[in-house]
Parts: sequence; structure tokens; C-alpha cells
Amino acid sequence: MFEVLKKDKRTKARLGLLKTPHGIIKTPSYVFVGTYGRILHLSRNDIKNTKTQVIISNTFHLWDKVESYKNSKSVIRNELTRNFGKLPIMTDSGGFQVLSLAFSDKNKVGKFMTGEAKADKSYKRSKIKITEKGVHFLFNGKKMFLGPELSMKLQEKIGADILFAFDHITSPLDTYKYNQKALRLTNKWAKICLKEHATNQKNRANKQILFGIVQGGLFKDLRIQSAKSIGSMPFDGFGIGGSYTKKQIAKVLKWIIPHLPEEKPRHLLGVGKVEDIFEAIENGVDTFDCVIPTREARHGRLYTKTGYIDIRRGYYSKDKKITETGCGCFTCTKKISRAKIRELIKSKDRILNAQGQRWCLMHNMWFFNNLLEDIRKSIAGGKFKEFKKKTLTKFKS
Ligand SMILES: [Zn+2]
Repeated sequence: MFEVLKKDKRTKARLGLLKTPHGIIKTPSYVFVGTYGRILHLSRNDIKNTKTQVIISNTFHLWDKVESYKNSKSVIRNELTRNFGKLPIMTDSGGFQVLSLAFSDKNKVGKFMTGEAKADKSYKRSKIKITEKGVHFLFNGKKMFLGPELSMKLQEKIGADILFAFDHITSPLDTYKYNQKALRLTNKWAKICLKEHATNQKNRANKQILFGIVQGGLFKDLRIQSAKSIGSMPFDGFGIGGSYTKKQIAKVLKWIIPHLPEEKPRHLLGVGKVEDIFEAIENGVDTFDCVIPTREARHGRLYTKTGYIDIRRGYYSKDKKITETGCGCFTCTKKISRAKIRELIKSKDRILNAQGQRWCLMHNMWFFNNLLEDIRKSIAGGKFKEFKKKTLTKFKS
């Protein structure tokens, strides 16, 4: 299922092939986010033109579809293939969406925090109730529940290639004691997920891949403990979850990675800025997903080798140049100028604005896929460290 082709001698970076029922992913690879089972304004052909290898969709947001197509299993997968093309697809467990409903009520804690986050003993979850079985929560005024068994059932029905176990994510404001409790639940739920997954796979021709998730917040001993226990369970691969500040990513990875089996793939959840990609890969991560390339494209932020440009600025209104000279993306090879993209993305007309977003999406996704291709080449050639230095010296975030 996963083959390590080459290991970098000076770092933990590695080159690999992740084989899924719908194709092989060359790793390290970026994983783009198609929340509702689509990337708005892009056709499957557009996505193909960006050299995208894999997309992650959100189980929580596809839940309704599973409910409405109860008896016909392949409907959702077929819809995903229609929207994305024949690509491997990942689904998250839905746990992050559900558990982060509690994050917004105080101090706006999300996936990332800025500055230094400190544990806060008074931090309480008021909008959700966590039990041994899962999470009770209120969504759009409706009482709902999501736990490990249901998450596995939903993901099996969606039909993705790579699934994630249902885990208990914590906030950087959570105390050591709370993280201990969350870890115990994550371990308990991981075992339930493995059991449920094995049952669900019995009659499937193409077996789905299941990743377990390492948690433990910002506490070294808990992270190591989690990596050891989740790492020893018979998962096909591992996800690294959590919420941290930028500086903490490399630190946390250095604690975890040595305790995960070398022969299995590792996915870093929700991280994908240019600098973070290099840190993740350097520390042994194979895949990572992030909304950055697509979300920023929708706001007219275009990536170049020296940083991103905000195409909405007046400065670009007469700029006839393409986004980046030498860029091989569909937008740049079609010679769509900066001025034209600006005009479209700023348009109040929905159709014109959608066209603008499409050009921006195709450029950004290609940019990231091309960067990853260059990273893979640098690992193959034993020059990862040099490539990292060269890229980050020029790149300003
Ligand atoms: Zn381009």
C-alpha cells in the first residue's frame, strides 16, 4: 500500500508511493480541500490541469448526502468522481468540525493560533457534550450526535480511498489533565474505529485505507504516548492532529515521528503554508491538507516564487503581464493577464467573478503541485536541504 522509495540522508524527508483504490499518490503530496465534495468553479478537467493528485472532503458536510442516498452506496463516490475526476479521495472523520464547534465560544480558538497559546483552566466547552461514546452537539438548532462507529459508517458510504479515525482534538487552551482525558478517549475511539472499519470492509472489493490519529496537544510526554499507542495499532497510516502555533509544528513533529512505524504513511492535518510544508516534509510527513491555496485564490491572492500577490490591488489594473513568468499553469499558459484577473475577481457580476476565481484557483493549485514536484525531485537528487533554503530565501509569506 505504501512504498518508501528513498530517504533523505540529512533529514527525515522521504519519497514514496501511496497506492489507493483510485490511483497512486506520489509523496510528499499536497492534499487539496473540497469540503462539500467539489471545488467550486472548477470542472474535473480544470482540476486535472492543475496536476492535483488527491483531494480531501469533509464527512460532516457530506453527512446529509449519505442520509439522502441511504440505499445506494456508490452514488456519492460517483458524484465525487464526477466533480474531481478519477482521483484518490480522503475524508476526515467529522470530529474536527464537531469538536471545533466548541472552539469559537471563547478566545476564537481554531486550527491555528497566533502568538503564544497558554493553557487556561477556566476554558470550558459549552456548546457540545463529550461522552465515552462520542459528541453530542447542536447544529442549526438540531440535536445531533457523532461518534466513532457512525463516523466509520458515513465514511464507508461516501466511498473515499483514505479514511480517518474519529479522534478527540483539543485546543491549545486545554490543560494537561484535559489532554490526558482526550487522549484516553482518542485511544478508545481508535479501537472502535478499527473494529467497525474491519466489519464495513468485509464485502468491499476495493478496501478503503484507514489512518489513526495522534493527538496530545502541546505536551511532549502525551504526544509520545499517543504516537506509541496509536502507532502500535493496526492502522494503514497515521494522521497527526491538533491545533498549534506556527512555531510549534516542527517541535511537535520531532516528538511524534520517531515513534510511528517507518513503513506507514503519515498525514499532517490542516497544515499547508509554504514554510510549513518544508518543515513537515523535513520532519517525515508524507501528505498534508490545507485550505490555503483554494481559499486564498478565491480572494485573489496568487502565489509566486517570491511570495503571494494581492491581485485586487489597484496597482495591477494596467498590468498586462501574466501572474508569473515561466509558470506552466493553465491560467498563465493561456496568457490571462494580471489586469484581466483583477477585473474579473473584482466584478460584482457572479459569472465574471466565478471566472476570475477559476483562473486564480488553477494558478494556485498548480503552484503548490509544482512546488511539491520540485520538492520530490530535490529529495530524489539528495538536495532537499538546499532546495528548502533556496526556496524560502526568496519566498516572503
Ligand atoms: Zn500560473
